[in-house]
Amino acid sequence: MTNNRKKVHNDLEVVPTGFANGVAPGFPLSEGEKQDMIEKAAEAYGQFLDALGCDWRNDPNSSDTPRRVAKAYVHDLWKGRYTPMSEITSFPSDGYDGIVIERNIPLTSMCSHHHQTIGGVVHIGYVVGENGRVIGLSKLNRIVEHFGRRGAIQEQLTSAIHQAVDKICENNRGVIVSIVGTHNCVSCRGVKHQGASMVTTKASGVFLENDNLAREEFFDSIKINNSNHLV
Ligand SMILES: [Zn+2]
Repeated sequence: MTNNRKKVHNDLEVVPTGFANGVAPGFPLSEGEKQDMIEKAAEAYGQFLDALGCDWRNDPNSSDTPRRVAKAYVHDLWKGRYTPMSEITSFPSDGYDGIVIERNIPLTSMCSHHHQTIGGVVHIGYVVGENGRVIGLSKLNRIVEHFGRRGAIQEQLTSAIHQAVDKICENNRGVIVSIVGTHNCVSCRGVKHQGASMVTTKASGVFLENDNLAREEFFDSIKINNSNHLV
């Protein structure tokens, strides 16, 4: 079995280095480089608060806020820009040529335009081809985390996840990715509409055929238990 395992490299980036939805220059960063980045970002965020007229240095609730914000970006909100996704191993499908669906993968991301968070779920499906390759289910979650944990626009995020699954699950007959996202930049600022959600879907192969059973099976599947996600 070991000989049939195949390592996949993380060569899945699709936007220029340095963009908010791309990786940072020098990616992947060492722990020391991340620490330096946190120091610089904390100092700059303190100046940002100064400009907003916030006496954060004397406010016990805010005195450590610049550092908290910087750490949250580097370690959590923008983690995918600095820390590589662990290597993903694909496996032979051993004769299975059906559909694989994982639904309701939690998504936390950040809108590149407004730096407000995006919450939601991602549904992923693919049809295994003859002599195709499959991956462990949790690896789909890792792909969502890697591309979600950075700046994003939902349309491009959908494409990035689609391309990663398409490349890793070699010889597939089609891949479909659907994201249902709620954007705080819509609910908390600007138009301030609560409850609106955005649905984006990127499909390839058999999923582009409207009368195809795989497409029908995918959309039927994600309707189940969807009352919290497809409002
Ligand atoms: Zn926005």
